[in-house]
Amino acid sequence: MVVEQFLEFGTAVNIIVGSHVWVEDPDVAWIDGEVKKITNGEAEIERTDGKKVVRKLSTIYPKDVEAQAAGVDDMTKLSYLHEPGVLQNLKTRYELNEIYTYTGNILIAINPFQKLPHLYDSHMMQQYKGAPFGELSPHVFAIADVAYRAMVHEGKSNSILVSGESGAGKTETTKMLMRYLAFLGGRAATEGRTVEQQVLGSNPVLEAFGNAKTVRNNNSSRFGKFVEIQFDKHGRISGAAIRTYLLERSRVCQISDPERNYHCFYLLCAAPQEEIEKYKLGHPKSFRYLNQSKCFELVGVSDAEEYLATRRAMDVVGISKEDQEAIFRVVASILHLGNIDFAKGQEVDSSVIKEEKSKHHLKTAAELLMCDHVALEDALCKRVMITPEEVIKRSLDPRSAEISRDGLAKTIYSRLFDWLVDKINVSIGQDPNSKYLIGVLDIYGFESFKHNSFEQFCINYTNEKLQQHFNQHVFKMEQEEYKREAIDWSYIEFVDNQDVLDLIEKKPGGIVALLDEACMFPKSTHETFSNKLYQTFKVHKRFVKPKLSRTDFIISHYAGEVQYQSNQFLDKNKDYIVPEHQDLLCASKCSFVAGLFPSLGEETSKSSKFSSIGSRFKLQLQQLMETLNATEPHYIRCVKPNNLLKPAIFENDNIMRQLRCGGVLEAIRISCAGFPTRRPFFEFIHRFGLLAPEVLEGSYDEKVACKKILEKWGLKGFQIGKTKVFLRAGQMAELDARRAEVL
Ligand code: ADP
Ligand code: MG
Repeated sequence: MVVEQFLEFGTAVNIIVGSHVWVEDPDVAWIDGEVKKITNGEAEIERTDGKKVVRKLSTIYPKDVEAQAAGVDDMTKLSYLHEPGVLQNLKTRYELNEIYTYTGNILIAINPFQKLPHLYDSHMMQQYKGAPFGELSPHVFAIADVAYRAMVHEGKSNSILVSGESGAGKTETTKMLMRYLAFLGGRAATEGRTVEQQVLGSNPVLEAFGNAKTVRNNNSSRFGKFVEIQFDKHGRISGAAIRTYLLERSRVCQISDPERNYHCFYLLCAAPQEEIEKYKLGHPKSFRYLNQSKCFELVGVSDAEEYLATRRAMDVVGISKEDQEAIFRVVASILHLGNIDFAKGQEVDSSVIKEEKSKHHLKTAAELLMCDHVALEDALCKRVMITPEEVIKRSLDPRSAEISRDGLAKTIYSRLFDWLVDKINVSIGQDPNSKYLIGVLDIYGFESFKHNSFEQFCINYTNEKLQQHFNQHVFKMEQEEYKREAIDWSYIEFVDNQDVLDLIEKKPGGIVALLDEACMFPKSTHETFSNKLYQTFKVHKRFVKPKLSRTDFIISHYAGEVQYQSNQFLDKNKDYIVPEHQDLLCASKCSFVAGLFPSLGEETSKSSKFSSIGSRFKLQLQQLMETLNATEPHYIRCVKPNNLLKPAIFENDNIMRQLRCGGVLEAIRISCAGFPTRRPFFEFIHRFGLLAPEVLEGSYDEKVACKKILEKWGLKGFQIGKTKVFLRAGQMAELDARRAEVL
């Protein structure tokens, strides 16, 4: 696949015996070697590891033997722009701790997995302030600086989109961007808290409640985030708004070893003794929601200290002491809820609270939530049925009661999280007179696992949206460069993923719409839903029914195929709160708790109306795209160099896959479809003047000289811009081959 993709990039037609080339290798992606023999379109290559291989000429790529030892800070400076060249360049730089590299305006950031404090200190910030883009080494600060200056000078909003897979460094990058923007747009410290302090303070609060240790990242954000920093006409931060997307709810009740639940639970269990007693807490291992995994502590992190730090951050963002108390009381109540066990009751299919211990947890949970414990028990174990004749209370069997309990815990937690976000927003405050903003997006990258469910579906949908935005932008940037240089660009083809987006979001008839339909129809199952998909998309290019499954479906995403298991799609798409739970908590004597469950009025609270997570998410995405479309975007692609989360390990294959998924290769492809290599006239003459020395005799016009050199060697399709030579893919290699002959 890789090779096919790159065939379009124009393989080097000028590989000769003695050429240094890259050959594909299943283990290390690409390895270099020397061509020893060429016969019938095939080359015999001696690899640098001594192995001899034979490869089709169309599958090998020329290696730039003149590549600088330290690599280049911008991929577009590579003489040969192709996959192995890109990889080699990143690797060379990573080994020198140069974790940032540009591809034009895109910043690629490879997670160093080690602290590089000098890279982000105040001296660095000072240096990047106002420095022309490209003058200093690639850096997140440079991107933030460009965005800020563009905003101030052009009076236009900007956005910085940070993407990458889990653990790639998105959140750290985002925090660095925010720090730098606060540095540029902050005021001298005055009394009280400034907006920028509050904006920065929102990070630790949201991380305590929305981050958890996963196998991919010890501090993994389980939600997407868009931070909008508003500026006044003097370019000073005047307000901010935070929008979050899709918090992972299932984690509250279910974790697998060696992951952890949300940090806040462990922080609270490590709180000062006084609070432990107040909330009747103990070691995390005594709570079901935490002890499903054996991981309780994080290496190098003190939960006790983090607890205090979170409290301080809550002060900074303006959460009152009373609210803080209520927040942690609710967190504790969830732990106690989780410890309530059920046993079979006397009647058929009924359940009761099991044993004294469970009763203790039930009472404690009710106390903390300030609601009646009998009412809580009823809400967990019974359902009210309204028939035309009467209202009856039906008992739930123990399994259903457990589901009811977990549902309640998840709902309380997600409402708590939303409350925190709202509170932070209110407290920081939006500036109604703001002139413009810089948005920073930290959102989950493309995911493809062994098992992919509704969450992956939403995440990948997001990535399709962002990919389209990205492609359009890269394409536009290319056009602009061509226009600036006044060259013809009419034949660049633009690849669009609108077909995948239609498959997912088209109304009516897209997957999201069909899922909603299934959710509203009581008799639907995941089998009927899947069948409907199979029928509807029988001939859709981007949809595949897997041969060996009757309920899975495959979407052919821009970043590859993903097979989704549909069995939990219906459940996960339904966002509805059990009316009994709603009534219980709405009646809490604690105004904070009651406030999380505002009364919905008689009608809706009883009929448990279905609301669709998928459709709501689609709407949120639409709004996000509208916001982004009104801004000038900048892209940062974070890359995770290895899955061990260790420094200095550079896994070629792994990185290649991420570059592909992040659209970096696509951006390169777009650029290759046009004129991937551009050289200012003087540089071109410096390198290739010796191919036509006669042209350079006496005084000469640089532009004309370049043209003559190219024509002399019979090259076609290149263009001469105002300041640069634009070469088609492969032409640089051709010239180099000629040059090697001459030398
Ligand atoms: P993501 O948000 O993409 O899932 P994070 O930003 O949480 O990933 O990064 C994961 C971990 O990688 C961090 O906890 C940190 O240890 C390390 N890390 C990421 N970026 C950097 C960086 N620029 N410098 C040092 N360490 C980093
Ligand atoms: Mg993150």
